[in-house]
Amino acid sequence: SGFDAYEREYILTLAALAAVAINNAFLFEMTTTDMMTKLKMKHYFYTILQERMEAAACGDNPLSVVMIDIDNFKTFNDTYGHSCGDTVLKRTAITIQENVRPGDLAARYGGEEFCVLLPDTDGPNAVIISERIRRNVAESRILDGGLPLGVTIALGAARYDPARDFTIKALMDRADKALYQSKLAGRNRVSLAR
Ligand code: GH3
Ligand code: MG
Ligand code: MG
Repeated sequence: SGFDAYEREYILTLAALAAVAINNAFLFEMTTTDMMTKLKMKHYFYTILQERMEAAACGDNPLSVVMIDIDNFKTFNDTYGHSCGDTVLKRTAITIQENVRPGDLAARYGGEEFCVLLPDTDGPNAVIISERIRRNVAESRILDGGLPLGVTIALGAARYDPARDFTIKALMDRADKALYQSKLAGRNRVSLAR
């Protein structure tokens, strides 16, 4: 080749560094992504939420979060089986992802719970987005062996309030309480935290 020994050594070093960077990116994806739903995991969501709350605290841009929980999922698993339950989780995750913007962050919060971070979004707009997700899940008619399954979700939205939400937990608790209101009111609905 046209490279001398020094140049070859240099290129090999660059290639090795690039390989490390690619491998790190791979490991980062692996450790922050839920393999079943391909959504981000809770710990990554918290990291980003912390950053966004700090930025929102000293700016004028609103910030909202939404908590989502699949309705009667235990009954669902018991009736149709765990693998059908997994299908529902995957389909629900896709529907959530399809109904938020690229700059929003959707995550799997726990077993059958999801959360979404909505930058530049106030309470009323968080409700509009939540309502769109709710409707699309309810209308998606997830099929199991050709049989349509009536899957619904309950949602709780909360706008970040720097005067009250001193921690991530405070904000997420308010969203969780709103979600609980949706459950109490009959499920398949959206509530906005006060
Ligand atoms: P509610 O409407 O009040 O939310 O009732 P629910 O039955 O959805 O709530 P509950 O918390 O009692 O049940 C959650 C169920 O989710 C129980 C658990 O077996 C199921 N679950 C959690 N993670 C997974 C999973 O990865 N796959 C499947 N198939 N089921 C899961
Ligand atoms: Mg739950
Ligand atoms: Mg549930």
